[in-house]
Amino acid sequence: MAIERILVIGAGTMGHGIGHAAAVGGYTVTIQDVSPASLDKARAAVEKIVQKGVELGKTKPDEAQKIIGRLSFTPDREAAARQADLIIEAAPEQIAIKMEIFAGLDRMAPESAIFASNTSALSITEMAGALSRPARLVGMHFFNPVHKMKLVEVIRALESSPAAIEAVTEVARRMGKETVLVRESPGFVTSRVNAMIGNEAFCMLQEGVASAPDIDKALKLGLNHPMGPFELVDLVGLDTRLSVLEFLHKTLGEKYRPCPLLVQYVKAGRLGRKVGKGVFEYPEK
Ligand code: NAD
Repeated sequence: MAIERILVIGAGTMGHGIGHAAAVGGYTVTIQDVSPASLDKARAAVEKIVQKGVELGKTKPDEAQKIIGRLSFTPDREAAARQADLIIEAAPEQIAIKMEIFAGLDRMAPESAIFASNTSALSITEMAGALSRPARLVGMHFFNPVHKMKLVEVIRALESSPAAIEAVTEVARRMGKETVLVRESPGFVTSRVNAMIGNEAFCMLQEGVASAPDIDKALKLGLNHPMGPFELVDLVGLDTRLSVLEFLHKTLGEKYRPCPLLVQYVKAGRLGRKVGKGVFEYPEK
């Protein structure tokens, strides 16, 4: 089916980026969130990305206007869902929240709609249990920041149909992304490897092996990682990373047990850049 209208559920770190990428791809996009503050923040964030593109000469001013014009922001999920061809869920990484969202969308969205979840690690097959049409749900795992990162992992759940996989792969392509197809498995490819590296970095920090800046520097200059593990977790969100590790620990076993220091940082409210402090501090927030 031809996809023209995309609804993104959740206007946070990922939701605004996915909405922006979809608008760049020429789709008519609605971003929905339960929090008016998140919607305001998302609108400002998208405008900033578009404006930056103009300043860098990557986006023409008239194209920038068109991108902004294709986007709307709303707290009203039902009205937006009724018109959507594809719904991409980017709500918090908690299975109960995602199940509730999909159960509601099942009643609201047209029969022809396709559903996707941007979960970092949770089971798409389990989420599909909330739908009367499980074959229409796939995983679309974007990366942060969405406007800079080239990859989308397309996740085939137990019952995902080839047509749904084909449809989201084409949407990702129109957003300017490359895709890899992954059979559902906890953490897919990227989150599983990344969670392991990030957890090990916290364990080394806890043991006093090296300072946080030096662990970051070692991985960047010694192993050619574009970002250090702490720089990256501050961007991803320490709470999001902890949720992923807890899930991998439960599903794949002991080697994924979250490092106690990461748990402590989350308890202290050091959730990363989004709150102005994580492993490092960001005084501008
Ligand atoms: P976030 O906390 O930045 O944003 C979540 C947003 O969802 C918030 O604006 C919140 O108000 C909203 N929300 C909460 N409950 C809702 C509901 N019932 N309906 C609609 N909106 C609701 O989280 P995020 O980092 O954007 O993560 C979203 C999803 O993307 C998670 O599944 C996460 O694992 C995944 N993900 C995150 C990253 C990352 O780097 N942060 C990367 C890839 C995938």
